Amino acid sequence: MTSELVPPQFDWAQLFDALNIGVILVDGSGNVLLWNEWIARHSGVSRATAINHPLTEIFTEPLPAPFIAAIKRTITTKLPVVLSNALHKFPLPLYNLNGTGERISQSVILNPIKDSAGEFNCLIQVTDSTTAIKREKMLRDHSETHKKDATTDPLTGVYNRRFFDSHYKLEMNQAQRQKSTLSLLMLDIDFFKNYNDHYGHPAGDAAIIAVANCMRNTIKRSSDLVARYGGEEFIVLLPNSTPTAAQMLAENIRSAIADLKMPHLNSLIANHLTVSIGVSSFLPGMVVDATTFLKNTDLALYAAKQKGRNQVQYLPL
Ligand code: GH3
Ligand code: MG
Ligand code: MG
Repeated sequence: MTSELVPPQFDWAQLFDALNIGVILVDGSGNVLLWNEWIARHSGVSRATAINHPLTEIFTEPLPAPFIAAIKRTITTKLPVVLSNALHKFPLPLYNLNGTGERISQSVILNPIKDSAGEFNCLIQVTDSTTAIKREKMLRDHSETHKKDATTDPLTGVYNRRFFDSHYKLEMNQAQRQKSTLSLLMLDIDFFKNYNDHYGHPAGDAAIIAVANCMRNTIKRSSDLVARYGGEEFIVLLPNSTPTAAQMLAENIRSAIADLKMPHLNSLIANHLTVSIGVSSFLPGMVVDATTFLKNTDLALYAAKQKGRNQVQYLPL
Protein backbone atom coordinates (compact mmCIF):
# COMPACT_ATOMS: atom_id res chain seq x y z
CA MET A 1 0.00 0.00 0.00
CA THR A 2 1.30 3.39 -0.95
CA SER A 3 1.18 5.51 2.14
CA GLU A 4 1.56 8.67 0.01
CA LEU A 5 -1.83 8.03 -1.59
CA VAL A 6 -3.85 7.15 1.50
CA PRO A 7 -3.09 9.11 4.68
CA PRO A 8 -2.23 6.74 7.55
CA GLN A 9 -5.31 7.65 9.59
CA PHE A 10 -7.57 6.12 6.87
CA ASP A 11 -7.84 2.57 5.69
CA TRP A 12 -8.38 1.39 2.14
CA ALA A 13 -11.50 -0.64 2.91
CA GLN A 14 -13.27 2.41 4.26
CA LEU A 15 -12.44 4.36 1.11
CA PHE A 16 -13.57 1.56 -1.20
CA ASP A 17 -16.82 1.22 0.73
CA ALA A 18 -17.55 4.92 0.45
CA LEU A 19 -17.25 4.87 -3.36
CA ASN A 20 -20.42 5.27 -5.32
CA ILE A 21 -19.29 2.66 -7.83
CA GLY A 22 -18.83 -1.08 -7.58
CA VAL A 23 -15.32 -2.39 -7.03
CA ILE A 24 -14.35 -6.06 -7.25
CA LEU A 25 -10.84 -7.49 -7.34
CA VAL A 26 -10.31 -11.05 -8.58
CA ASP A 27 -7.08 -12.99 -8.72
CA GLY A 28 -5.67 -15.09 -11.56
CA SER A 29 -7.80 -18.08 -10.55
CA GLY A 30 -10.96 -15.98 -10.53
CA ASN A 31 -11.31 -15.79 -6.74
CA VAL A 32 -12.71 -12.62 -5.21
CA LEU A 33 -10.23 -10.61 -3.14
CA LEU A 34 -12.17 -7.41 -2.72
CA TRP A 35 -15.90 -6.73 -2.73
CA ASN A 36 -16.94 -3.22 -1.84
CA GLU A 37 -20.10 -2.06 -0.12
CA TRP A 38 -21.73 -0.76 -3.33
CA ILE A 39 -21.46 -4.20 -4.96
CA ALA A 40 -22.74 -5.91 -1.80
CA ARG A 41 -25.71 -3.57 -1.65
CA HIS A 42 -26.71 -3.89 -5.30
CA SER A 43 -26.05 -7.62 -5.64
CA GLY A 44 -27.49 -8.70 -2.31
CA VAL A 45 -24.31 -10.75 -1.73
CA SER A 46 -22.38 -9.83 1.43
CA ARG A 47 -18.65 -9.38 1.52
CA ALA A 48 -18.28 -12.41 3.80
CA THR A 49 -20.06 -14.59 1.22
CA ALA A 50 -18.04 -13.29 -1.68
CA ILE A 51 -14.46 -13.09 -0.43
CA ASN A 52 -12.24 -16.04 -1.40
CA HIS A 53 -14.92 -17.56 -3.59
CA PRO A 54 -14.77 -17.84 -7.37
CA LEU A 55 -16.65 -14.91 -8.93
CA THR A 56 -18.46 -17.34 -11.25
CA GLU A 57 -19.99 -19.22 -8.30
CA ILE A 58 -21.20 -16.28 -6.25
CA PHE A 59 -24.37 -15.53 -8.14
CA THR A 60 -27.31 -17.84 -8.62
CA GLU A 61 -27.25 -17.14 -12.34
CA PRO A 62 -24.29 -17.73 -14.66
CA LEU A 63 -22.25 -14.67 -15.64
CA PRO A 64 -22.06 -13.91 -19.36
CA ALA A 65 -19.20 -15.76 -21.05
CA PRO A 66 -17.82 -12.60 -22.76
CA PHE A 67 -17.55 -10.96 -19.35
CA ILE A 68 -15.56 -13.88 -17.87
CA ALA A 69 -13.40 -13.98 -21.01
CA ALA A 70 -12.69 -10.25 -20.67
CA ILE A 71 -11.51 -10.71 -17.06
CA LYS A 72 -9.16 -13.49 -18.13
CA ARG A 73 -7.92 -11.42 -21.04
CA THR A 74 -7.18 -8.46 -18.75
CA ILE A 75 -4.98 -10.71 -16.60
CA THR A 76 -3.19 -12.48 -19.45
CA THR A 77 -2.65 -9.45 -21.69
CA LYS A 78 -2.09 -7.08 -18.72
CA LEU A 79 -4.15 -4.51 -20.61
CA PRO A 80 -7.30 -2.70 -19.50
CA VAL A 81 -10.63 -3.55 -21.10
CA VAL A 82 -13.67 -1.34 -21.39
CA LEU A 83 -16.88 -3.29 -21.84
CA SER A 84 -19.11 -1.46 -24.25
CA ASN A 85 -22.46 -0.73 -22.68
CA ALA A 86 -24.13 -1.36 -26.01
CA LEU A 87 -22.84 -4.95 -26.12
CA HIS A 88 -22.99 -5.85 -22.43
CA LYS A 89 -25.71 -3.87 -20.79
CA PHE A 90 -26.07 -5.98 -17.64
CA PRO A 91 -22.95 -8.14 -17.14
CA LEU A 92 -23.56 -8.61 -13.39
CA PRO A 93 -26.86 -9.33 -11.64
CA LEU A 94 -27.10 -5.94 -9.90
CA TYR A 95 -30.36 -4.28 -9.03
CA ASN A 96 -31.67 -0.81 -8.30
CA LEU A 97 -32.61 -0.21 -4.70
CA ASN A 98 -35.54 2.05 -5.55
CA GLY A 99 -38.04 -0.77 -5.14
CA THR A 100 -38.62 -1.30 -8.86
CA GLY A 101 -36.38 -4.38 -8.89
CA GLU A 102 -34.99 -3.07 -12.15
CA ARG A 103 -31.60 -4.41 -13.21
CA ILE A 104 -28.87 -1.77 -13.23
CA SER A 105 -27.48 -1.03 -16.63
CA GLN A 106 -23.72 -1.06 -16.21
CA SER A 107 -20.55 0.41 -17.57
CA VAL A 108 -17.61 -1.83 -16.70
CA ILE A 109 -13.90 -1.19 -16.82
CA LEU A 110 -11.36 -3.94 -16.16
CA ASN A 111 -7.81 -3.09 -15.08
CA PRO A 112 -4.81 -5.37 -14.55
CA ILE A 113 -3.36 -4.94 -11.02
CA LYS A 114 0.02 -6.43 -10.02
CA ASP A 115 0.30 -7.73 -6.43
CA SER A 116 3.44 -7.80 -4.30
CA ALA A 117 4.25 -11.33 -5.54
CA GLY A 118 4.24 -10.02 -9.12
CA GLU A 119 1.00 -11.83 -9.99
CA PHE A 120 -1.67 -10.10 -12.03
CA ASN A 121 -5.21 -9.64 -10.77
CA CYS A 122 -8.20 -7.95 -12.32
CA LEU A 123 -9.86 -4.88 -10.84
CA ILE A 124 -13.49 -4.60 -11.94
CA GLN A 125 -15.10 -1.16 -11.73
CA VAL A 126 -18.82 -1.01 -12.25
CA THR A 127 -20.78 2.22 -12.68
CA ASP A 128 -24.52 2.62 -12.96
CA SER A 129 -25.18 3.93 -16.46
CA THR A 130 -28.96 4.03 -16.10
CA THR A 131 -29.05 7.81 -15.76
CA ALA A 132 -26.64 8.34 -18.62
CA ILE A 133 -28.71 6.05 -20.83
CA LYS A 134 -31.96 7.75 -19.83
CA ARG A 135 -30.43 11.15 -20.55
CA GLU A 136 -29.26 9.94 -23.96
CA LYS A 137 -32.72 8.61 -24.77
CA MET A 138 -34.30 11.87 -23.64
CA LEU A 139 -31.97 13.86 -25.90
CA ARG A 140 -32.72 11.54 -28.79
CA ASP A 141 -36.50 11.81 -28.26
CA HIS A 142 -36.14 15.54 -27.96
CA SER A 143 -34.38 15.82 -31.29
CA GLU A 144 -37.04 13.59 -32.92
CA THR A 145 -39.73 15.94 -31.62
CA HIS A 146 -37.75 18.87 -32.94
CA LYS A 147 -37.53 17.29 -36.36
CA LYS A 148 -41.28 16.71 -36.31
CA ASP A 149 -41.86 20.31 -35.20
CA ALA A 150 -39.95 21.56 -38.20
CA THR A 151 -42.26 19.78 -40.64
CA THR A 152 -45.71 19.76 -39.06
CA ASP A 153 -48.27 22.38 -38.17
CA PRO A 154 -48.69 22.36 -34.38
CA LEU A 155 -52.44 23.07 -34.42
CA THR A 156 -53.59 20.42 -36.88
CA GLY A 157 -50.72 17.95 -37.10
CA VAL A 158 -50.70 18.07 -40.92
CA TYR A 159 -47.55 19.23 -42.74
CA ASN A 160 -46.66 22.89 -42.51
CA ARG A 161 -46.11 25.28 -45.35
CA ARG A 162 -42.34 25.03 -45.15
CA PHE A 163 -42.46 21.30 -45.65
CA PHE A 164 -44.99 21.68 -48.45
CA ASP A 165 -42.80 24.20 -50.28
CA SER A 166 -39.77 21.92 -50.31
CA HIS A 167 -41.76 18.80 -51.10
CA TYR A 168 -43.71 20.55 -53.85
CA LYS A 169 -40.48 21.52 -55.63
CA LEU A 170 -39.31 17.90 -55.59
CA GLU A 171 -42.64 16.56 -56.90
CA MET A 172 -42.76 19.24 -59.59
CA ASN A 173 -39.23 18.41 -60.77
CA GLN A 174 -40.17 14.76 -60.93
CA ALA A 175 -43.40 15.42 -62.87
CA GLN A 176 -41.48 17.56 -65.38
CA ARG A 177 -38.72 14.99 -65.78
CA GLN A 178 -40.93 11.93 -65.93
CA LYS A 179 -43.68 13.70 -67.89
CA SER A 180 -46.28 12.66 -65.36
CA THR A 181 -49.41 14.28 -63.95
CA LEU A 182 -49.47 16.31 -60.74
CA SER A 183 -52.59 17.89 -59.27
CA LEU A 184 -53.04 20.55 -56.61
CA LEU A 185 -56.04 21.48 -54.47
CA MET A 186 -56.22 24.72 -52.55
CA LEU A 187 -58.89 24.91 -49.86
CA ASP A 188 -60.13 27.92 -47.91
CA ILE A 189 -62.85 28.06 -45.24
CA ASP A 190 -65.78 30.29 -46.21
CA PHE A 191 -66.54 33.39 -44.15
CA PHE A 192 -64.15 32.28 -41.47
CA LYS A 193 -63.56 35.77 -40.14
CA ASN A 194 -67.29 35.86 -39.31
CA TYR A 195 -66.97 32.44 -37.66
CA ASN A 196 -64.21 33.66 -35.35
CA ASP A 197 -66.08 36.86 -34.61
CA HIS A 198 -69.21 34.96 -33.63
CA TYR A 199 -67.88 31.80 -31.94
CA GLY A 200 -64.54 33.02 -30.65
CA HIS A 201 -60.95 32.16 -31.52
CA PRO A 202 -60.76 28.81 -29.64
CA ALA A 203 -63.85 27.56 -31.48
CA GLY A 204 -62.20 28.79 -34.68
CA ASP A 205 -59.15 26.70 -33.88
CA ALA A 206 -61.34 23.66 -33.28
CA ALA A 207 -63.01 24.21 -36.67
CA ILE A 208 -59.61 24.39 -38.39
CA ILE A 209 -58.66 21.08 -36.73
CA ALA A 210 -61.96 19.49 -37.82
CA VAL A 211 -61.36 20.59 -41.43
CA ALA A 212 -57.80 19.20 -41.36
CA ASN A 213 -59.00 15.86 -39.98
CA CYS A 214 -61.71 15.67 -42.60
CA MET A 215 -59.13 16.20 -45.36
CA ARG A 216 -56.78 13.63 -43.86
CA ASN A 217 -59.57 11.07 -43.62
CA THR A 218 -60.76 11.64 -47.17
CA ILE A 219 -57.35 11.28 -48.75
CA LYS A 220 -56.57 7.69 -49.62
CA ARG A 221 -53.14 7.45 -51.20
CA SER A 222 -49.98 7.55 -49.12
CA SER A 223 -48.29 9.74 -51.75
CA ASP A 224 -50.96 12.45 -51.33
CA LEU A 225 -49.88 15.23 -49.02
CA VAL A 226 -51.99 17.64 -46.98
CA ALA A 227 -50.43 20.81 -45.61
CA ARG A 228 -51.70 23.89 -43.80
CA TYR A 229 -50.86 26.68 -46.18
CA GLY A 230 -52.00 29.64 -44.11
CA GLY A 231 -54.49 30.51 -41.35
CA GLU A 232 -57.61 28.77 -42.69
CA GLU A 233 -56.11 27.62 -45.96
CA PHE A 234 -54.91 24.15 -46.84
CA ILE A 235 -53.16 22.69 -49.84
CA VAL A 236 -53.17 19.12 -51.13
CA LEU A 237 -50.54 17.68 -53.44
CA LEU A 238 -51.68 14.72 -55.53
CA PRO A 239 -48.97 13.02 -57.58
CA ASN A 240 -50.24 11.05 -60.61
CA SER A 241 -53.80 12.28 -60.13
CA THR A 242 -55.73 13.22 -63.28
CA PRO A 243 -57.84 16.41 -63.35
CA THR A 244 -60.98 14.26 -63.05
CA ALA A 245 -59.66 12.28 -60.07
CA ALA A 246 -58.45 15.48 -58.38
CA GLN A 247 -61.83 17.17 -58.85
CA MET A 248 -63.62 14.12 -57.48
CA LEU A 249 -61.40 14.11 -54.42
CA ALA A 250 -61.94 17.85 -53.96
CA GLU A 251 -65.70 17.33 -54.15
CA ASN A 252 -65.48 14.50 -51.58
CA ILE A 253 -63.57 16.80 -49.22
CA ARG A 254 -66.01 19.66 -49.75
CA SER A 255 -69.08 17.50 -49.10
CA ALA A 256 -67.48 15.71 -46.12
CA ILE A 257 -66.83 19.08 -44.45
CA ALA A 258 -70.34 20.35 -45.26
CA ASP A 259 -71.76 17.08 -43.88
CA LEU A 260 -70.14 17.81 -40.52
CA LYS A 261 -72.87 20.46 -40.20
CA MET A 262 -70.78 22.60 -37.92
CA PRO A 263 -73.08 25.53 -37.11
CA HIS A 264 -71.99 28.78 -38.76
CA LEU A 265 -74.80 31.30 -38.26
CA ASN A 266 -72.80 34.18 -39.74
CA SER A 267 -72.00 32.47 -43.00
CA LEU A 268 -73.68 34.28 -45.87
CA ILE A 269 -74.21 31.10 -47.91
CA ALA A 270 -75.28 28.37 -45.45
CA ASN A 271 -76.05 27.85 -41.79
CA HIS A 272 -73.05 25.56 -41.36
CA LEU A 273 -69.32 25.63 -42.07
CA THR A 274 -68.38 25.27 -45.75
CA VAL A 275 -65.19 25.43 -47.82
CA SER A 276 -64.22 26.49 -51.31
CA ILE A 277 -61.64 24.50 -53.26
CA GLY A 278 -59.58 25.36 -56.32
CA VAL A 279 -58.12 22.55 -58.45
CA SER A 280 -55.39 22.66 -61.05
CA SER A 281 -53.39 19.96 -62.81
CA PHE A 282 -49.96 19.82 -64.36
CA LEU A 283 -50.24 17.49 -67.35
CA PRO A 284 -47.50 15.36 -68.97
CA GLY A 285 -45.12 17.38 -71.09
CA MET A 286 -46.38 20.83 -70.08
CA VAL A 287 -43.79 23.58 -70.02
CA VAL A 288 -44.87 25.35 -66.84
CA ASP A 289 -42.87 26.25 -63.75
CA ALA A 290 -43.80 25.49 -60.13
CA THR A 291 -44.75 29.10 -59.32
CA THR A 292 -47.11 29.42 -62.25
CA PHE A 293 -48.80 26.12 -61.39
CA LEU A 294 -49.30 27.25 -57.78
CA LYS A 295 -50.64 30.65 -58.89
CA ASN A 296 -53.10 28.94 -61.22
CA THR A 297 -54.42 26.83 -58.32
CA ASP A 298 -54.88 30.00 -56.29
CA LEU A 299 -56.81 31.50 -59.21
CA ALA A 300 -59.02 28.39 -59.27
CA LEU A 301 -59.77 28.93 -55.57
CA TYR A 302 -60.52 32.59 -56.27
CA ALA A 303 -62.98 31.49 -58.96
CA ALA A 304 -64.69 29.12 -56.49
CA LYS A 305 -65.11 32.05 -54.08
CA GLN A 306 -66.36 34.37 -56.82
CA LYS A 307 -68.89 31.87 -58.11
CA GLY A 308 -70.58 31.63 -54.70
CA ARG A 309 -68.29 29.60 -52.36
CA ASN A 310 -69.03 26.09 -50.99
CA GLN A 311 -67.86 24.61 -54.32
CA VAL A 312 -64.99 23.17 -56.33
CA GLN A 313 -63.61 24.97 -59.36
CA TYR A 314 -61.11 23.54 -61.81
CA LEU A 315 -58.95 25.92 -63.80
CA PRO A 316 -56.86 24.45 -66.65
CA LEU A 317 -53.23 25.53 -66.68
P1 GH3 B 1 -63.66 34.06 -47.42
O1 GH3 B 1 -64.94 33.32 -47.48
O2 GH3 B 1 -63.54 35.04 -48.55
O3 GH3 B 1 -62.50 33.15 -47.35
O4 GH3 B 1 -63.72 34.94 -46.11
P2 GH3 B 1 -62.91 34.72 -44.78
O5 GH3 B 1 -63.57 35.49 -43.70
O6 GH3 B 1 -62.77 33.27 -44.53
O7 GH3 B 1 -61.49 35.28 -45.16
P3 GH3 B 1 -60.53 36.26 -44.41
O8 GH3 B 1 -59.21 36.06 -45.09
O9 GH3 B 1 -61.09 37.64 -44.40
O10 GH3 B 1 -60.47 35.76 -42.94
C1 GH3 B 1 -59.76 34.64 -42.54
C2 GH3 B 1 -59.88 34.55 -41.05
O11 GH3 B 1 -59.23 33.39 -40.55
C3 GH3 B 1 -59.22 35.71 -40.33
C4 GH3 B 1 -58.52 35.11 -39.16
O12 GH3 B 1 -59.01 35.65 -37.96
C5 GH3 B 1 -58.87 33.65 -39.21
N1 GH3 B 1 -57.75 32.80 -38.84
C6 GH3 B 1 -56.57 32.66 -39.48
N2 GH3 B 1 -55.80 31.78 -38.83
C7 GH3 B 1 -56.49 31.36 -37.74
C8 GH3 B 1 -56.20 30.45 -36.66
O13 GH3 B 1 -55.14 29.83 -36.57
N3 GH3 B 1 -57.16 30.26 -35.73
C9 GH3 B 1 -58.36 30.93 -35.80
N4 GH3 B 1 -59.24 30.68 -34.86
N5 GH3 B 1 -58.62 31.78 -36.78
C10 GH3 B 1 -57.73 32.01 -37.75
MG1 MG C 1 -58.09 32.78 -46.52
MG1 MG D 1 -61.66 32.09 -45.86
